[in-house]
Amino acid sequence: MDILINKIISCSNCGLRATCAKPVPGEGDCNADIMFIGEGPGKKEDEQGRPFVGQAGKFLNELLASIDLKRENVYITNVVKCRPPQNRDPLPKEVEACREWLNEQIRNIKPKLIILLGRHAMNRFISGLQISSAHGRAFRRNLEGLGEFVFFPVYHPAAALYNPKLRESAFKDFKKIPKIIELINNS
Ligand code: URA
Repeated sequence: MDILINKIISCSNCGLRATCAKPVPGEGDCNADIMFIGEGPGKKEDEQGRPFVGQAGKFLNELLASIDLKRENVYITNVVKCRPPQNRDPLPKEVEACREWLNEQIRNIKPKLIILLGRHAMNRFISGLQISSAHGRAFRRNLEGLGEFVFFPVYHPAAALYNPKLRESAFKDFKKIPKIIELINNS
């Protein structure tokens, strides 16, 4: 994994590396059952080179704690590893430039469950769905040459943070995670 992280840090496959401060490859337990994938680094993440360390990250920690998990128990990364300027959405060509890095991380970690944080992460793996209807449902998908994985889209913590309805949904969806892992373990 260290070699891969170094490759990600020295990547300049798209223009984002020139405008970001620090690439944010991802962090956590490389043997984790659960992998979380967000959209891309924000300001705080860009400053620190670590994923989900700002307000959205604090809320993600709360959601993890609600099911007795800590960040160290899971792996956390993003669709794009470098911050898009002014936090704009990543462009398709930027998602494409990072495609192999994320695939390689999944190949290394082989998570039992991949939690997709928000619609951008969801669209990277599951097409044609709205996050409003797909959140809280598990999907099996075959990944380019990597085999079958189970994906679980949820609202992005930044969207859920200040919206009481989405916040409630996020906690409800997280509550399903231990059960899904149990089902996967017994299947
Ligand atoms: N939002 C994301 O999608 N990823 C981060 O790392 C932080 C905020």
